[in-house]
Amino acid sequence: MTTVYIISAPSGSGKSTLVNEVRKIVSGLDFSISYTTRAPRGSEQNGREYFFVSRAEFEDMIRNDEFLEHADVFGNYYGTARRFLREAQAHGDDLLLDIDVQGAEQIKKRIPAAASIFVLPPNREKLEWRLRNRGLDSEAVICRRLDTARREIENYDKYDYILVNDRLEQSIDQLKAILLSERLRRSGRPLTNDEQEKVALADRNRLENMRTRIQPILDSFRDTPGHCQPKAAL
Ligand code: ADP
Ligand code: 5GP
Repeated sequence: MTTVYIISAPSGSGKSTLVNEVRKIVSGLDFSISYTTRAPRGSEQNGREYFFVSRAEFEDMIRNDEFLEHADVFGNYYGTARRFLREAQAHGDDLLLDIDVQGAEQIKKRIPAAASIFVLPPNREKLEWRLRNRGLDSEAVICRRLDTARREIENYDKYDYILVNDRLEQSIDQLKAILLSERLRRSGRPLTNDEQEKVALADRNRLENMRTRIQPILDSFRDTPGHCQPKAAL
């Protein structure tokens, strides 16, 4: 049985970094490459990060019911093609979806057994620093991303697991533990001591066990003004 994992995060939280790392170390895990109508950024290549299509092509795909879910994110269409799930099922692999909150809600309705993970930055200040340090966005875009993050973060309680991406190595271990523990749980067989430890590590990231950890993060976003003041260009 293919397990579908959903991972969402405000931009700059480190989701791509984490996903790239676990893809190297977790076997039997397919990654769905989404379709989008946004233009490629930087070194992005068609068919690697996304399939870049026109609005007309995307709308054709909607009409042909080719999407498992799709959503409008920041004014562009993004969607998960059904064929990625079919292919993962045919290979006996699990499937990882990097999608936004709207997409996550649609998948949860269609596939209630999907396991969802929300990645949070340790606080607003660190998110701002990471966005700036990444060097991809202008000051105006960084401000918009921070403002959007403040709203996106409020959706954390729709997810099964919360991962606070503070120390990268630890976050990679936690994400790996979540993926493996879902597999172990679903295997239905008795677990070894080592496996039980993995499940216990993953359980620490379950929503119900993370509420006190999340509160100061939410506060760091709520305490700041609703709009970002762009810093003068350096
Ligand atoms: P996202 O995919 O969520 O937009 P990225 O993976 O691009 O975020 O990460 C944003 C920036 O933060 C990148 O420069 C990345 O190298 C850095 N980063 C990711 N995780 C951490 C971490 N745990 N500690 C410090 N920097 C990190
Ligand atoms: P970006 O344009 O920065 O790559 O992605 C913007 C947002 O779109 C991110 O939150 C990302 O998770 C989300 N996204 C990427 N692909 C999909 C998809 O197929 N469906 C949905 N619903 N969201 C997606």
